[in-house]
Amino acid sequence: MNKITNHDQLLQLEHPFVKIPLEKFKSSLKVSQKHIEKEISTLTNTVSDISKKSQQGDMNPAEVEKALEAIVHRLSNLKRRLKDTRAEESLYSQRTKVRLQHLQEFTTIPTLDSDGFGRWSRVRLNRILVDYMLREGFRETAALLAKSEGIEEMVDIELFVQSRKVEQALQRFSCTECLQWCHENKSNLKKIKSTLEFSLREQEFIELVRKRQTQEAIAYARKHLIVWQETHMREIKKVMGLLAFPPSTNCQPYKGLYDASRWKKLIARFRADNFALQCFTPEPILNVTLQAGLSALKTPMCYIDEHRNVNCPVCDGETLGALATDLPLSHHLNSTIVCRISGQIMNEDNLPMVLPNGYVYSYNALMEMASMNNGKATCPRTGAVYDISQIKKVFIS
Ligand SMILES: [Zn+2]
Repeated sequence: MNKITNHDQLLQLEHPFVKIPLEKFKSSLKVSQKHIEKEISTLTNTVSDISKKSQQGDMNPAEVEKALEAIVHRLSNLKRRLKDTRAEESLYSQRTKVRLQHLQEFTTIPTLDSDGFGRWSRVRLNRILVDYMLREGFRETAALLAKSEGIEEMVDIELFVQSRKVEQALQRFSCTECLQWCHENKSNLKKIKSTLEFSLREQEFIELVRKRQTQEAIAYARKHLIVWQETHMREIKKVMGLLAFPPSTNCQPYKGLYDASRWKKLIARFRADNFALQCFTPEPILNVTLQAGLSALKTPMCYIDEHRNVNCPVCDGETLGALATDLPLSHHLNSTIVCRISGQIMNEDNLPMVLPNGYVYSYNALMEMASMNNGKATCPRTGAVYDISQIKKVFIS
């Protein structure tokens, strides 16, 4: 029957799914509020200024009219801006609503083998796959899948499009776009104690030194590195040492500072900070979900060559086994006996059978082998061939 007894357990993985649009909604709301507050304070000051000056006779009616027109102009600008943020707010509030409804639907599903769960988990799988593809850079495929499955409101394609532009610029060895991104997200980056901006400034300095533009590099350091001296003095001293070493140097740590691999690290750091700001999980949800399942299967036997089970996903060291490497072992209260030939569990429905040489295999696997080999079964470990009549049941007490 596979009754779902605790819906909350599954929903624990869905935290970012709702948080992403909700946070975007909140930040859009904040932007609107900021615009309104700023304009209202300017408006109040200007109006009181106009009334004061016109009472004192410092402004003639034509000047007053002009000042009022300027206010109207500012207010229409505000209206236009609010219209844009309003569109964004309704987009993200709609997304939050759709996502909550999707999760709500799950809580009404009673069993894992019901049709409702089949439909629901298909949507979940597809949105998880879209997230995975977006992270791996397959944007178009992700968009096609989201469209064909009608789940556009459950995925965040546009957020990846923006960050992709920054990543592409870093791949072209340009920090400009990423620095701009840091500027736009300054207060939030400060909250997560990000030092990405310092690393970008360091890199721009390194590039100037690489071109041997020493004067420019020193001026750059004075302007952009010194502001970090309180927290990054050691790094600043180290990078300034580059001025004495040409790019061809073999001397560490300067050789490392010139290394192009630093750009890859910058991309990784940008990704990590960007995911943290947008409430994305650092790992794709696909990996997290798979790992939750793999941790229930992982045993010490999975990583011992001669004990690998053909039916166990963790035993495949190159795919899911690799994903399970850092996971804890699953907790088993009872031993499970697994057939070496078929990988199936041996129990009362598939009895363990012993060959005359002492090796034990499952009834189903030996019978299947015998049916295809004139009643003979071959021991896969020793190669010995036995007649099916020589095989006996094993009783484990
Ligand atoms: Zn295994």
